[in-house]
Amino acid sequence: MNMSKTSWKLSEAPEGADHIQLAKRYELFINGSWTAPKAGTYFKTINPATEETLAEVAQADKDDVDAAFKAAQAAQPKWQALSGAERGKYIYRIARMLQERSRAFAVVESMNGGKPIRESRDIDIPLAAAHFFYHAGWADKLEYAFPMRKPQPIGVVAQIIPWNFPLLMAAWKIAPALACGNTVVLKPAETTPLTALLLAEVIEAAQLPKGVVNIITGDGQTGALMTAHAIPQKLAFTGSTEVGRKIQEAAIKRNKRVTLELGGKAANIIFDDAPIEAAVEGIINGIYFNQGHVCCAGSRLFVQESVYDKVLLKLKRRMDSLYLGDPLDKNTDIGAINSKSQLETIDRYLKIGQEEGAEMYQTDCELPAKGFWCKPTLFTHVAQSNRIAQEEIFGPVLAIQTFRTIEEVIGQANNTPYGLSAGVWTDKGSKIFQLTSALKAGVVWANTYNKFDPTSPFGGYKESGFGREGGVHGLEAYLRFE
Ligand code: ADP
Repeated sequence: MNMSKTSWKLSEAPEGADHIQLAKRYELFINGSWTAPKAGTYFKTINPATEETLAEVAQADKDDVDAAFKAAQAAQPKWQALSGAERGKYIYRIARMLQERSRAFAVVESMNGGKPIRESRDIDIPLAAAHFFYHAGWADKLEYAFPMRKPQPIGVVAQIIPWNFPLLMAAWKIAPALACGNTVVLKPAETTPLTALLLAEVIEAAQLPKGVVNIITGDGQTGALMTAHAIPQKLAFTGSTEVGRKIQEAAIKRNKRVTLELGGKAANIIFDDAPIEAAVEGIINGIYFNQGHVCCAGSRLFVQESVYDKVLLKLKRRMDSLYLGDPLDKNTDIGAINSKSQLETIDRYLKIGQEEGAEMYQTDCELPAKGFWCKPTLFTHVAQSNRIAQEEIFGPVLAIQTFRTIEEVIGQANNTPYGLSAGVWTDKGSKIFQLTSALKAGVVWANTYNKFDPTSPFGGYKESGFGREGGVHGLEAYLRFE
């Protein structure tokens, strides 16, 4: 019996958060076994809403990274040699087991990341399972997806993910890689390692062949060791634009394939003919969902001048009704900021915004005494050149600007180094069509926001990265063609 694993089991179905007992310490999941890090180093992972330690997690060093890639390399030819249908069976099994354990996954996701349980329960975990289901279905149909092109796996893939959607990002990375016949070494972010480790338990219980999926924990140093390693033929990264640049450098140096999903500063645009109530709801969801820790967050709002006063009033009223507090309370709308350092970044931007001359509005909700919190915030009187309108804050902070004409707003919306997503609110189909082609963004939502589906490709351009995840396009990132 390996005592380093969690003690809860599906059959003991925990009824509430109190019953979920995490292990005190988690090891590395390498070659199908829970392995202690060679250097014997561990770090604490906490609950950002309480600052309490949840568990200790292994810090993977050079030798551990090497062992993980060697395991993935040894497993790859056998995994590729399985029929697509066989590979699909394993992936379906992971999807079903995730669904069966969804409650526990949701609780741990909210405890470790700070996000409201309503979001992890209704969005993160079901979508993660959906990604495995969707890609399981592709495993034996790749030749139909790419007729006459002889799709082949790339080989071993290094995958590095961020802390804002820990399990979902793991699913986005692992599911297509496996369906295409690759083996992987994945590293979750240092502040949110727990659900990736629980996923490793699911993968172990699903009896995937050893070494097909390796999950190692550590910080940026571990990530850098992964990207510098000789074995992986592809690097897949989701995270900040700054780290993305380093990953791209590493890929170029060693001639590896790479896909990057980086930052964003999305425009959410309300025209005067929009259904205003629905639009306000969409704006709220666009920026305050997951405390604004969302690369595609609608962090810049553009309102047509004639409805500005009306929209602002309704927006403030709706903000005032948001409930901030315990992420495990199912009525909570706004949870904890993921880490102390992220809270410091957000606070720095709140100061910058005010110094730049913008007007700040925050709801007067009370903040809990412990943990990391930020009140829902908006800025008005924002200039296009202001840093709060140009730089990604990754927090619950909305910058509002106005416009008169469609041409003007297209210019404003595209005036950013990023190009991940955008939102349009209007009654007119013609405006939607005009904007979807004019906006330089990988995803444009019309009269909705933050809708995700495994069938539709997600990704950006400009400094938001390249490569797509989801849909047939997402498969291409894990294939080579003869
Ligand atoms: P954020 O700014 O959103 O915290 P980061 O881009 O810093 O996101 O981190 C995303 C992921 O990249 C994390 O898993 C982190 O450990 C990893 N990481 C950080 N620095 C590096 C690096 N130099 N090389 C590879 N991975 C890194």
